[in-house]
Amino acid sequence: MIMNGKKGVILGVANNKSIAYGIAKQCAAQGATIAFTYLNDSLKKRVEPIAAEFGSENYVYPCDVSNPDEIKALKESLEKDLGEIDFIVHSIAFAPKEGLSGRFVDISKNAFEVAMNVSVYSLIEVAQVLKPIMSDSCSILTLTYYGGVKYIPNYNLMGVAKAALEMTVKYLAEDLGKDGIRVNAISAGPIKTLAAAGIGEFRFMLKWNEAHAPLKKNVTTSEVGNSGMYLLSDLSSAVTGEVHYVDSGYNIMGMPAVSFDEDGKQTIAWDGK
Ligand code: NAD
Repeated sequence: MIMNGKKGVILGVANNKSIAYGIAKQCAAQGATIAFTYLNDSLKKRVEPIAAEFGSENYVYPCDVSNPDEIKALKESLEKDLGEIDFIVHSIAFAPKEGLSGRFVDISKNAFEVAMNVSVYSLIEVAQVLKPIMSDSCSILTLTYYGGVKYIPNYNLMGVAKAALEMTVKYLAEDLGKDGIRVNAISAGPIKTLAAAGIGEFRFMLKWNEAHAPLKKNVTTSEVGNSGMYLLSDLSSAVTGEVHYVDSGYNIMGMPAVSFDEDGKQTIAWDGK
């Protein structure tokens, strides 16, 4: 199996709808040993049974990435329980509600700082603190979205955070590359998760993506999981600093495709309902 003998930590499982869960599932199916983290006590109750599903009941740790002490404690626990680690999944983002709808111009400095801290700086801090226990072929993966490249309605503050996250991937990849460590991102198409529920008019995003992506479907957490497993495994040993799209091809579209009605008149392919 592709991940046999690999040990890693996955940050960002909230429930079995999480993208991180999809990644865990594919990695476990390929033989990986996985440690899990949870944000707070109410999520602990959800993450523990998920960890048990993958035989990881002894590898479940608290980690609120806005608390540096919890990241340090995570490093100590991982070192004690697993020794060296071969992969890290950072599947974490947060922005206060005011940053995910309404007018972009009204975003407060506080909301901006919170979003950048939790959604971007945390990748740097996790890499920094866990660096001493990374194996010399460790692979780090984070999750991003197209709203960090182009305007997407309501994605607002998270778009700015994802743009910063994608550049963080590149700078980290260059810096850690000298130690053999790889850093990549998956830019996933919209998926109905807890985090996505916070984004204004999210259902419209799902419908739009499905209607206009070349594959005419939305993506699943299993599909993101498959690509994630590849980026975490030695199959991608020469791949670093990449943002890999798992979005049914939506990002290649410059305009919605057109079709023709019975009279040969050009129509937009989607009726907007
Ligand atoms: P999710 O709600 O299942 O996962 C988000 C996770 O972030 C949760 O587990 C939550 O506990 C964690 N988190 C938030 N604040 C934290 C903190 N301070 N410390 C530690 N953990 C914290 O939703 P998801 O959609 O699976 O999101 C995972 C990642 O995928 C995010 O980066 C998100 O932006 C990205 N993404 C999501 C979509 C989508 O449509 N769902 C698309 C592209 C990218």
